[in-house]
Amino acid sequence: MEIFHISAECYPVAKVGGLADVVGALPKYQKAANQDVKVIIPCYDTKFKKENVFESVYTGSVKLGKFDFCFNILKETTDILGFELYLVDIPELFDRPNVYSYEDDIERFVSFQIATLDWIVSRECIPDIINCHDHHTGLIPFMMLYSYKYEKLRRVPSIITIHNGLYQGQFGFDKLNYLAEFNLEHANLLEWGNCINSLAVGVKCAWQVTTVSPSYLDEINEFANGLEPLFNMVRYKSIGILNGIDTDIWNPETDKMLENNYDITAFETGKSDNKKVLCKLFNLDPSKPLFSFIGRLLEEKGGDLLPQAAALALSQNYKEINILILGSGNTEIEKDLNSLLIDYKGNYNTYIGYNEELAHLIYGGADFLMMPSRVEPCGLNQMYAMRYGTVPIVRRTGGLKDTVIDFGDGGNGICHDQASVGDIFYSIQRAINLYQDKDHLNKIIKLGMSTDHSWERVCQEYLEMYKLLIAKV
Ligand code: ADP
Repeated sequence: MEIFHISAECYPVAKVGGLADVVGALPKYQKAANQDVKVIIPCYDTKFKKENVFESVYTGSVKLGKFDFCFNILKETTDILGFELYLVDIPELFDRPNVYSYEDDIERFVSFQIATLDWIVSRECIPDIINCHDHHTGLIPFMMLYSYKYEKLRRVPSIITIHNGLYQGQFGFDKLNYLAEFNLEHANLLEWGNCINSLAVGVKCAWQVTTVSPSYLDEINEFANGLEPLFNMVRYKSIGILNGIDTDIWNPETDKMLENNYDITAFETGKSDNKKVLCKLFNLDPSKPLFSFIGRLLEEKGGDLLPQAAALALSQNYKEINILILGSGNTEIEKDLNSLLIDYKGNYNTYIGYNEELAHLIYGGADFLMMPSRVEPCGLNQMYAMRYGTVPIVRRTGGLKDTVIDFGDGGNGICHDQASVGDIFYSIQRAINLYQDKDHLNKIIKLGMSTDHSWERVCQEYLEMYKLLIAKV
């Protein structure tokens, strides 16, 4: 089966968050299951691009209203990722260091989608499956159905996988002429809330909608930035498939980013050695429980609750705990988090920014990882934390609900119901008590470390879904 994954991110080529981890892992496991898998992302100015060798396999140009962009499809030549990687090189739009947040993001991602389809349709054979990821690829299922030049792809099953339904890629109808020319009778499919909504288009037109956890599928019917009725309408073609984790990369036994490697039989010494390194780096005391947070500092992640929750926990348990925050996002939240640095020096620290290596060291050295998310479509951090013997403290939502069970119910973590300062504080208190009971804590850690979140099993679920779609052709 020939499968195309089309996405804005793919680890280790370009990563902002979990989307990259998934698109860097699922294809690898599909390839290992003997499928012919190709991943296409834009060609950003990243370290991976500079350090690897590419060959051009197709050139063309995209007409976007009055703009014309030449593009090149580049193939990574060594297959070092375990699947074929293709980059859509449009220098004017993508030769920049960041993945998102440019004024011309609409022009960037519409061009990316058109260039991708131009190349796919130019090939002799037609793919069996096109798996789109998030709103940056949401126009593809529509153009495959209705754009004249992609007629050849009309009967290829398309899937849109929703990693985060809050971001939707809306733009005005004044840019309707950006899309590859299509039968205007279908223009109504582009509309949601008086504008073109890329995610809504993908959801309406894809043969199948998937979310990255079963609970998130239920939640987007109630909370999806205005798309709730649409998600209800397409429930008949929607399924939730829980993400896996790449156990080759995220393996405490072999992870080169850890100071000390360990497995389930020796996690106590391994983790405590990593904790010492981490505490030295951040001026913390390794004899105290270390609470951590890794992620985007946004309301969606409960980031706005962290400054108050941390201040409360530190002042109530003064000199009893450490807190270490790694993340970036909302500048107000960053400022509030940094404002605690003076009062709680020696017990609290932050790293405002993105640091992949540090993230690994935190999973490998912290005792607890906090995820007070308001919305968490799947969440990978809690799975990485458990695999590295760090107990997750999570709000019961989305994928967190599907992967973490409170230790009071015999589970692998600590759970609370509300995204509130009070609930986070209460969970930290429970964690402090648990930390005193080493036997109990170690049992919970072992349960987390032995849980199977690997992609092998999940990959089969995707393949089964693809087969059912192909059977409909
Ligand atoms: P989301 O995609 O919503 O940000 P996920 O939990 O699905 O959240 O994935 C987050 C991924 O990004 C994880 O691999 C996590 O370790 C990583 N990550 C997030 N913020 C940072 C950061 N500041 N530094 C390093 N890694 C980060």
